[in-house]
Amino acid sequence: MTNFATTLDLPTTNAGPRTTTLVRSGLNDDTQYNAVIPPLHLSATYRFPSFGTKGQYDYARSGNPTRDALIEMLVGLESGTHGVATCSGMAAIHLLFQTLKPNDLVLASSDLYGGTHRLLERLGQDSRLRVLYIDTTDSTKTAAAIEEHQPQLVYVETPSNPLLKITDIQAVAEHCNKAKSLLAVDNTFLSPSGQQPLLLGADVVLHSTTKYINGHSDVIGGAVVCKDAGLGENLAWWANCLGLSASPFDAHQTMRGARTLFARSNVHAHNAMHLAHWLDDQSACSRVYYPGLPNHAGHDIAQAQQLHFGGILSVEFAPDVDIAGLTSRLRCFTLAESLGGVESLVAHPASMTHAAMDFEQHKQAGISDRLLRFSVGIEALDCLQADLQQALND
Ligand SMILES: *Cc1c(COP(=O)(O)O)cnc(C)c1O
Repeated sequence: MTNFATTLDLPTTNAGPRTTTLVRSGLNDDTQYNAVIPPLHLSATYRFPSFGTKGQYDYARSGNPTRDALIEMLVGLESGTHGVATCSGMAAIHLLFQTLKPNDLVLASSDLYGGTHRLLERLGQDSRLRVLYIDTTDSTKTAAAIEEHQPQLVYVETPSNPLLKITDIQAVAEHCNKAKSLLAVDNTFLSPSGQQPLLLGADVVLHSTTKYINGHSDVIGGAVVCKDAGLGENLAWWANCLGLSASPFDAHQTMRGARTLFARSNVHAHNAMHLAHWLDDQSACSRVYYPGLPNHAGHDIAQAQQLHFGGILSVEFAPDVDIAGLTSRLRCFTLAESLGGVESLVAHPASMTHAAMDFEQHKQAGISDRLLRFSVGIEALDCLQADLQQALND
């Protein structure tokens, strides 16, 4: 196996104190039985101590101790002050858009998660808000657009899906600040272990906790975390009003998964970095997209704003590679959508995650039929590399 000693050095994430806080979040809070791990509270309703006085909780849609423990964990992870734990990533994104008014303008990255794009398109068509897409990886263009349109909300995904394009969060945040636009960043692809948008100047950070935060591909969940108390209260109000909050069981599972986030992230990023370099040397690969590769378009910005380069990479294969055959020969990469679980997955964006787009839109987005996206898991690196090698050589 090639030794990429220099590139394999883990970036200095200064994750130590954050790791400890995360692992120990909510421990030892149980006063009834001294349970170490926070108990799972399933009760839908709570007894009133006496007529006309309610306790801390009354009804579980409005509030629940298990969900609150998860929120505290997530708010801490993103260095925010307020948060909502939702029943899916899309619920979290919907919740944020719910705070906008019909004439409000959303300036969004042109390279968006499919579900977010679908939601924005429909809200725009129904005149529930106005939407404008822009290539946010171009800081100059983005600055000009923010100045010209003074949007209420700028909505960014970085790294983007599936080409891992990088937007300079700090640069966009400065322009948002001047225009009094709110900046929201979907941080799903890196997780808080790899990037802290609120510390880079963003106002809101969103997650599909389904991915790295839960990390075990067995819960659908989401989160919004912000810095402003007024916005936090508004988001919580809508979450209760619409019933978008996470179930106590899912919240408990997510906390269990999240405790190992930093340990998992190190292995994801380490495996992905090695495989990206290795694939880049293979003649069957025309192009490897991974922010950790020095030839990646946003590498320098990623290096500056990220704490690691993440576990997702995409590969455009040479014209003579049989893509369907390749995916069927893989043993350690399951052909499936989603990402961020401990297990390695492979997806064909053109026919799977981005199937809602037509040929012209694929071409515009740079998603070719020969592109595969890999969510690199935490299996042994040599097993993953050997698997790719045998699948390529056949
Ligand atoms: C998966 C995903 C979502 C949607 O999350 P769900 O939990 O599936 O609702 C949103 N944004 C990104 C970047 C995602 O990968």
